[in-house]
Amino acid sequence: MSNQKTESKEVTGEMRHPYEDDETIICIEYDSDDRPFNVTTQDGGMSHYDFDWCEGAGLYYHCSGGGPRGGIVLSKFANPEPPRKIWAAPGIKFVKQTRDGNDWKEIELTIEQIRAMGHEIISEPVNLSSMGKDTCNPFDVGYEGETVYCGICRERMPDEDLCRHVFWDRFIGMYSGVGSDEGKVEDYKDDILFFISKMSKPVVEKILHALTTNSIWLQFHGELLGSSQIELNGDDVWHNDILEDVDEYDDLKGEGEECKFVTGGEWLASLEGKKTKKTNALVAEWIKESANNRT
Ligand SMILES: [Zn+2]
Repeated sequence: MSNQKTESKEVTGEMRHPYEDDETIICIEYDSDDRPFNVTTQDGGMSHYDFDWCEGAGLYYHCSGGGPRGGIVLSKFANPEPPRKIWAAPGIKFVKQTRDGNDWKEIELTIEQIRAMGHEIISEPVNLSSMGKDTCNPFDVGYEGETVYCGICRERMPDEDLCRHVFWDRFIGMYSGVGSDEGKVEDYKDDILFFISKMSKPVVEKILHALTTNSIWLQFHGELLGSSQIELNGDDVWHNDILEDVDEYDDLKGEGEECKFVTGGEWLASLEGKKTKKTNALVAEWIKESANNRT
């Protein structure tokens, strides 16, 4: 028994970031399923890593920031039951930050305070063999990369493998789409209606029908801009039928219109049949409204 303990301590003393060899793991916070979700490493200063569990894709991590060397700052869980496990290397302190004039100062937390915040200190890090490897090092069972939450699928996914409800709005630099909690559909009304305004009448009618019957499923083949084809509910719609007043995408005026067109189209393509009923109805209303205003 005592041998086992010594051995395990040696292992934890060696836990390092796989690529940043100077970074030693000094603290691991676990979620209610004992999966790591917050890891702190230390070399000259401290680095913080967020770990996200993606159902079906595994554990992903990315560096979320760093700071000077100091204690591990804990925060209180909104729902501290059951307590979440937390491990720290020997000599590492848990602290809270309080104002000290214009500065912040760290005050060491007592065991009772730490418990009251919803943390349970464990003396050895959790073995992660249930995640595929006989190791306590979270980096050994994780992939490096960001993750995004989709409110339609109700799960997190790696940003390199997104579902259709979320897309990267490259013009604003954030995730958007019906599944994203960042960009709301109201913020994209102009873009969606601009995209629609460039469509021929029969295509608009098809889109409207798909929205009102909750069967919308729009797909772009390749890049939207410069692509010669979209697919709407299984039917191919060719370039010449899409754009009414525009012969070439180049005719879109400057970058402003190009952004609006691409973003509006991508937003529409994030909708999916019965899964997005509420937004389908809202977008259909907007399209009808703008058609009335035009005539
Ligand atoms: Zn989704």
